[in-house]
Amino acid sequence: MNMEFIRKLPTPKEVKEMYPIDEELAKVKAKNDEEIRKVFTGESDKFILIIGPCSADNEESVLDYIHRLKGVYEKVKDELIIIPRIYTNKPRTTGLGYKGMIYQPDPTRDPDMLKGLITIRKLHMRALKETGFSCADEMMYSENHRYLSDLLSYVAVGARSVENQQHRLTASGLNIPVGMKNPTSGDISVMLNAINAAQHPHRFIHRGWEVQSKGNNLVHAVLRGYVDQNGVSYPNYHYEDLYNIAKLYKDSNFANPAVIIDTNHSNSGKNHKEQIRIAKEILHSTRQNELLGKIVKGLMIESYIEEGCQKLPEQTYGKSITDPCLGWDDTEKLILDIADLRRNRKK
Ligand code: PEP
Ligand code: MN
Repeated sequence: MNMEFIRKLPTPKEVKEMYPIDEELAKVKAKNDEEIRKVFTGESDKFILIIGPCSADNEESVLDYIHRLKGVYEKVKDELIIIPRIYTNKPRTTGLGYKGMIYQPDPTRDPDMLKGLITIRKLHMRALKETGFSCADEMMYSENHRYLSDLLSYVAVGARSVENQQHRLTASGLNIPVGMKNPTSGDISVMLNAINAAQHPHRFIHRGWEVQSKGNNLVHAVLRGYVDQNGVSYPNYHYEDLYNIAKLYKDSNFANPAVIIDTNHSNSGKNHKEQIRIAKEILHSTRQNELLGKIVKGLMIESYIEEGCQKLPEQTYGKSITDPCLGWDDTEKLILDIADLRRNRKK
């Protein structure tokens, strides 16, 4: 083979034994999971915000950000559920560039995947311990999910992975919500096929085992916009897009029809500030049609401490090194505004 086997990495079980969570933390996560589950099953009408930086590049600034989220959450928890994004695995359009904390625990240094596995586990653990938030991550490499499975309350299968069978089958064996993003081409049938596959039980190979999954009825759609054959971005968050998904869901027999809308990526054309307008437009759409009000369960927002993004070697604290994000002041205001809009919709 044309590759060098550098070293054998510890298994998820070994890493969990090295850095275990105690019973108290396990209870906090179970309680979060239950609250989130109820939104997807329709038992709760709280609105979910999966919010945080495009990539978790630095332990201190990510935790600083999540502590800030905790402060706002106290004011909005009757209306909203906040699931911070701690995205430690990054897909890259060309395969080049920063691939996340799991690869490079320090983005200015060489890849170190042993250190990476430990660093991402410690970061998710600290978030849970210090703030009570169990967070979201991208399931980029499905065989790695179990390194964090006792800590995560939400995973997304990204636009570049959603057509992959191993991701779909692994999602079918999880008991937390898994968001299937529309592919970068925008083909909605690919996303629906992924939901269909993951809601069913499967026999497959996972981490050297023959396994049997039960099917995951919390698997749902995430709309992130798309690009055409010339690489031009188009949104899919407008009323007509949501209505179309609602209709497709109605004609299918999937469990728990649900849509989360990603306000950045091709929906904003990576104009991060547009996320504010997009979020408000979506909330407006959900008030125009009862069905949309029911199936739109929340938003995914890219946000950090400093607005925009930077290119390494620039190292401004709390500024994204991947996609541009909303800054903290805009984020806080947006969360409060979303909570107000949700509160007022009942009037
Ligand atoms: C992301 O959430 O940062 C991301 C890479 O999303 P997508 O898979 O939609 O491009
Ligand atoms: Mn991003």
